Formats: sequence, C-alpha cells, structure tokens
Amino acid sequence: MNARKTLLRKTGKAIADFGMIREGDRIAVGVSGGKDSLALADALLLLRRRSPVDFSLRAFTIEQGKFVRPVEPLGDLLSARGMEWTYYVDEPSFKLLEEQPTHGCDTCSRFRRRAVYDVAAKLGCNVVALGHTADDLCEALLRNALFTGRLSALPPVTTSRSGDFRLIRPLVYVTEDVTRAYVEASGMPITPCVCSYKTGTVREKLRGFLAGLRQDNPHVLENLLSSMGRIDTERLLDKRFLGRPPVAGAQGNGATMLLSPEKLAHAAVAIDSDSCQDVDYAW
Ligand code: SF4
Repeated sequence: MNARKTLLRKTGKAIADFGMIREGDRIAVGVSGGKDSLALADALLLLRRRSPVDFSLRAFTIEQGKFVRPVEPLGDLLSARGMEWTYYVDEPSFKLLEEQPTHGCDTCSRFRRRAVYDVAAKLGCNVVALGHTADDLCEALLRNALFTGRLSALPPVTTSRSGDFRLIRPLVYVTEDVTRAYVEASGMPITPCVCSYKTGTVREKLRGFLAGLRQDNPHVLENLLSSMGRIDTERLLDKRFLGRPPVAGAQGNGATMLLSPEKLAHAAVAIDSDSCQDVDYAW
C-alpha cells in the first residue's frame, strides 16, 4: 500500500464529495497528538498545494491534562511543515480533573468542544477540521445502532450549534491502517493521552469485533463504510422513507475527485448535528 497516495486520494475525495472546503476558508485543524490528526494536518497541507481553492490552515492542540508526555514537539513538527500551531491549555478541564477525576467521556468531550470553539474563534477561523476516520464512522454506526437504537454515525460536514463554525471530517474515507502506515513512514512522533490505555470500553469491544471479522474478510470496514452511502430505505423500518422513490443519481461513493470547483460551490451537507453527541472520540 502506498499510504501517502491513498491518504491524499481519499481525503481529496471526501473534501470534494461533501463540499467541505470553500474559497477563503480559514481552517483550524484539531491535532490531538495521535496518528489520525497528524495525518490529517499533513494531508490538508499537501492538498492545499494543488487546490484551485484558496484556503488557510492553522493547527491547534487542546491540553486537558491527559497527555502522557509533553506535546511541544508537535508544534516543532507542524511549524517545520509550514503550519502554525497553537497550544491551548484549557483551565476548566484541569479544574474538572481535580474536582471529578473519574468524569466520563461525555463531560470530557463537552469541555473539549467548548475549548475548540474558543480556540477557533481566537484564531479567527470559520472552519474546524477534525481527524475522525472511516474506523470511527463504522464504530459510531454500530455503537449508535446497538446502544441508542438509531441508525446514524458522524456527519462529514455540519455546523456548530451557534452557527459560527463549519465542522469538517476530511478523513471519513480513510481507514486507520492508512493513517498508521503514513505516520510511521513519515517518522512523525505520536503523543498519546492516558485514555488510549483504557480497556474494557465499548469502543475497544467494537474495534475488537471489527478486527475479528476483518481476519476473515479484509473488506468488512470498507463495506460498512460503503453501506452508509447506499441506504436501501425500503428495507428498513423508518416509515418516513418507505414508499419513496429512490433519489435519482444516488449511486453511493463514486469516482475520485479532488476539490472540484462544482462540488466546492455546493453548500455544506446539512446533517443532524445532534448525532455528534452520540459518540465521544478524542480529537
Ligand atoms: S477517552 Fe477521550 S473523551 Fe474520554 S475521557 Fe479520555 S480524552 Fe476524554
């Protein structure tokens, strides 16, 4: 596998398919220190060079007191690659750690979301790019179906509740074997957070389940991802969609496109932003 080529092709396709980036966008890229967000930052930098659309990039990292080692090398790495980096120490998260050391992911991610909007506003950005991958989407789909009784995953594009920011997930087509291979080949340093060592979580179980299935069928993840773009509403139980003719031209994930101007001219896909609340993934 050529990880670089795959990363750029799939990221470019997602950006085009969902009209993620528009002329003049000022994009704040959330960098958590993990492989996915590092791959995202690099992919956006590389795609910008060949994009017909003019947009700017800034990276930021939210410090919530959970990194296992200093994150400053991240800043050096990103600066060397031409991306300005902001390290944002979120005091309310530290207070939360002190007062409720065993707080759950829902609280933690709520604090992080608020901090992200604070940073994006301070940086003067109108778009926030998040590093959720195809694996995250598949896990979210299973998790929501199994634990909330709803068929939903994560929106590739949505807006913040305030309407101030467009949130984009350019890695929705990229699986984590690609981000892992890319980051390893690039020699980028990973800065894990304590939570990556947690065991017994639903997320870990779903990952294990999918990994087990993949041993027999290596395309399980891609198939699950593809199913999200090819919904057969006549074979589900949502009465709102039964008996409706299929949408003309809805063929699922089509040919690879890279920042096509026609696609970019389209408005952001409107997706229920509430579905963001169903899953809590570190950014
Ligand atoms: S796993 Fe992520 S959301 Fe949950 S507590 Fe840890 S850092 Fe926060």
